[in-house]
Amino acid sequence: MGILDTKVALVTGGARGIGREIALKLASEGAHVAFTDIRLEGAADEVMNLIRAKGVRTTAIQSDVRSLSEAQNTIDTVVKEYQHIDILVNNAGITRDNLIMRMSEDEWDSVIAINLKGTFNFCKAASRQMLGQRQGKIVNIASIVGVMGNAGQVNYSASKAGVIGITKTLAKEFASRNIQVNAVAPGFIDTEMTQKLTPQQREALMNAIPMKRIATPEEIANVVLFLASPAASYITGQVINVDGGLVM
Ligand code: NAP
Repeated sequence: MGILDTKVALVTGGARGIGREIALKLASEGAHVAFTDIRLEGAADEVMNLIRAKGVRTTAIQSDVRSLSEAQNTIDTVVKEYQHIDILVNNAGITRDNLIMRMSEDEWDSVIAINLKGTFNFCKAASRQMLGQRQGKIVNIASIVGVMGNAGQVNYSASKAGVIGITKTLAKEFASRNIQVNAVAPGFIDTEMTQKLTPQQREALMNAIPMKRIATPEEIANVVLFLASPAASYITGQVINVDGGLVM
């Protein structure tokens, strides 16, 4: 018995990194888990096998979060297959770092399209179903960079600050319909995204983090699980920093 038994969850960008860990965590608590990725290759098969091994159902859907129509098709596919959708985790995200002087229009546009518009697309696409059900949980993956800024990430920090804005606004729009919308703001997590850091950047980070280490993806998934579960029944519109004390 898990705390999410019979629930249906959808995780965007679930084939790798933090999204993969979130998908596995929700499945290990009994949820059926559908996940999307822009490409479905070997990694998605492995995630599906790991989810099935937990005794729940899974569906992998190739879907680009930048497209509202693909988001709507994805939600429709999940509802057709599972009849409802209880948990949406907006996780897909990218970085294209540069100082503003050097940042290209494409670097700005691509990060905003995936991180910010992608979150809007899936919230909008899921909203009709969740409003009709009169229940749902949306967890958006933001970043502490959206709270505190970071040199070289004007596109990323703006997108994540926007995700926090979406979270608070939809929490207000949906609160009376028993739909809760919250965000998790990770600090620095050990994934391919942070493996791009130079040794100097890594050392500077360690010095700044009170807990002196970066997090595992599972430490983010644990907080997503809490927000997606009945244990968080009176929490909405909140942003939980999971960052070893970097922002306080
Ligand atoms: P990751 O390892 O790069 O994984 C991101 C996933 O999103 C990949 O599976 C990727 O697919 C998918 N994706 C990219 N573009 C997509 C699109 N247009 N449509 C659908 N899926 C797409 O990144 P991560 O580190 O796990 O990050 C996950 C989330 O946590 C992101 O929102 C990120 O901003 C946030 N976050 C991460 C950190 C960190 O330190 N890692 C810190 C704060 C916040 P492909 O692999 O096929 O491109």
